[in-house]
Amino acid sequence: MPLAWCIIWSVWDTTLKTLGEDELLFILGHEMGHYVLGHIVKIIVFDSVLVLLLYYAVHLLAGRIIARFKTRFGFNALSDFAAMPLGILLILIVALAGMPVPMAFSRYLEHEADRFGLELTHNNHAAATAFVKIQEENLGIPRPGTIILIWLGTHPSIGDRIGFCNSYRPWESGQPSRYEDYIKRQSDVSRQPHGSAR
Ligand SMILES: [Zn+2]
Repeated sequence: MPLAWCIIWSVWDTTLKTLGEDELLFILGHEMGHYVLGHIVKIIVFDSVLVLLLYYAVHLLAGRIIARFKTRFGFNALSDFAAMPLGILLILIVALAGMPVPMAFSRYLEHEADRFGLELTHNNHAAATAFVKIQEENLGIPRPGTIILIWLGTHPSIGDRIGFCNSYRPWESGQPSRYEDYIKRQSDVSRQPHGSAR
C-alpha cells in the first residue's frame, strides 16, 4: 500500500506566493510533525474506535425505542428493513452529539504539530506571521465562538495558534523541548566523528 512507504506534502500555489521562506519552513515543520508523530495512524485508530462506539450506542438506543414503540412502528427489530430510517436518524443524532470528541482529538494533534514545527524551526515570529497571512488569505474567523470551535473545529482557532506561536519558546530559558529527541540539529551532526553520522 503506497501510503505505508511514502508521504506527499502538497503546498498550494497561493501559499507559495504568500509566505516567505521562513514561514514556509514552519508550515513544512508542522506537516512533518504530523508524519513523525504518527498522527495519521492515531487518527485512524481513534476514529475507528469511535465509530464502533457510535454503532454500539445506536444499537442500545434503538433497542429501547423499538421495545417501547414497536406496535406503532410495525417492526420489532433494528434488522428489519423498515427500521432503516430509525437507524439512520439515530446514527445522525449520536454522531452529532459525539462530534466534539473527534474534533477535540484533531485539535490536540494540530496543536502538537504546531509545537513540533516551532521546536524544529525555533522561529516564533515566522510561525505567527504565517498564520496571520493564512487567515488573511482564507478569510477565516480568528476566534470563532465556543460552540463552533467545539463542534466543528478540526484545528485550534487561528487566534489561539498565533498566541501559542508567540509564547512557546522553552529553548530560550533552557527548558526541555517535548520533541527534541525527534530532531537532529546541524550542530549534533557536526559533533559526531567523521563518517559515523547515520
Ligand atoms: Zn496540521
